[in-house]
Amino acid sequence: MNQATPAFRIDQEGYAAGLPVCTAVLGEGTVTLKNAAGETVRSIAVNAPETDPASGDAVTLVDLGVLESGEYELERGIDRRRLSVKPRAWNAVTHALIKGLYFQRCGCGLSPEHAGVYAHPPCHTAPAAEWEDRSVRRRVTGGWHDAGDYGKYTGPGAVTVAHLLYAWKLFPRGCGEDLNIPETGNGVPDILNEARFELEWILQMQRSNGAFHNKLTKSHFAPFIMPQDDLEPEYLMPVCWCATADAAACLALAYRVYRPFDEAFANRMLLAAKRAWDWLQAHPDYVPFMNPEGVRTGLYGGRSDASNRFWAACELYAATGGPAYRQAAEQLYTPKIPLLEFGWMEVGGLGTLCCLFDLKENAGDVLYTRLKEDFLRRCEKALTLSKASGYGTALEPDRYVWGSILPVMGNAMAMIMASLLTGRQDMRDAALLQWHYALGMNALDLCFVTGFGERRVMHPHHRPSGADGIEAPVPGLISGGPNKLFCMPQTKERLSPDTPPAKHYLDETPSADTNEIAIYWNSPAVFVGAYFNTPA
Ligand SMILES: [Zn+2]
Repeated sequence: MNQATPAFRIDQEGYAAGLPVCTAVLGEGTVTLKNAAGETVRSIAVNAPETDPASGDAVTLVDLGVLESGEYELERGIDRRRLSVKPRAWNAVTHALIKGLYFQRCGCGLSPEHAGVYAHPPCHTAPAAEWEDRSVRRRVTGGWHDAGDYGKYTGPGAVTVAHLLYAWKLFPRGCGEDLNIPETGNGVPDILNEARFELEWILQMQRSNGAFHNKLTKSHFAPFIMPQDDLEPEYLMPVCWCATADAAACLALAYRVYRPFDEAFANRMLLAAKRAWDWLQAHPDYVPFMNPEGVRTGLYGGRSDASNRFWAACELYAATGGPAYRQAAEQLYTPKIPLLEFGWMEVGGLGTLCCLFDLKENAGDVLYTRLKEDFLRRCEKALTLSKASGYGTALEPDRYVWGSILPVMGNAMAMIMASLLTGRQDMRDAALLQWHYALGMNALDLCFVTGFGERRVMHPHHRPSGADGIEAPVPGLISGGPNKLFCMPQTKERLSPDTPPAKHYLDETPSADTNEIAIYWNSPAVFVGAYFNTPA
């Protein structure tokens, strides 16, 4: 990894022409911005920087304004850092984040044509047994490996697909290019081709009674081996309330998206969504998912299924217009629903997307007018967080937990939505700071997307990247980022206890708590990237 430069933290993928260019400057003194001809374009005095509570850095955000396309250099004393401004600066990284999901495909091989050096033979193709009755065996294939491990989880998968589908619905020109995947050229946008790979798997996770299995995993995580070498049996784990609601929501949303492309597929999804909803109606009392004895894979449990049911009711209403779904959504919408949460534990933000951007006024007073007011009020909190941070990062210092990239990207999604609803530029600009955070304008001076940035993640907690013998990790995967809480022993041993939260990070393979990847961290970044990548 290149040495961190002392003075400047920048978006390492560059900046977009037409949007404000913001950098983080450590310490004080006059900063000069020069163009490629060596002429001074800006000269900004930085005095008395405040200490950023999350990182401990004395840092100032410097807004350089809108700049013409070109190469620039920041200077202060002997410190120099190049930055570039160009049209579609984030096109490659946005599409790589979508393609990153292709590299997570399970139940098939990845061919050299589409995966290059990361090709591998088919994995996880054997029939799975139901955990509760091993005599019941079913072939359930496809889907994405969830994260650094090889498990597949219904709820997180449904949330991931929803992020992609809303990215495409709202910002089709920001995420619509070919990805060089097996389906490319079939007349369907590749982001939808990739999402369908997961949807076909989700459909297989439904039981005959309408409920969804929580997950398809082994009893424990595999060692760091390639997926095709992971041959221990997989099990369909018990059903789960949250997973059933998330699947219902996602499939109802997907029905609307895919209907113009493949009506039979769309109808199959709507039927599955309705049956899942009926099961939830017949089982109103929430039962939290617990790992059965002897199972140690991801839990993905929740405290309640209220926001999951809310999202499902919204999507089923949008899909069918059925008044019972609207009534259910209105009843489920309470102040307790976290509207700025986009998964996997709470999904109120996804229900909000459905109501405010798809149903709109048709949703009525409760699900449009009141929800919009409530949502916009809560977005002020995200904006306040961004303003309180030296790097503009919309995250409380104590929320740097496992997968801290998710709330950062979630707040960016919320502020983009707020900006679209109100036309407010301050919301858009604060959302942009979160995107810069992901791409390097952070206390670590690190671009969190593998394969991108001058200072890049090289050792994500990701089994294929650790086992394939290739130095560079699989590209297009976003790291979970700093985590001060729930640390694994190795991280505790390697980092001093007084390391600030925003720097509590190790780019080392065993450091799952700071450097794992996950499909549902990639996907909110796709939403944010697609928005900022949309041509003016
Ligand atoms: Zn697999």
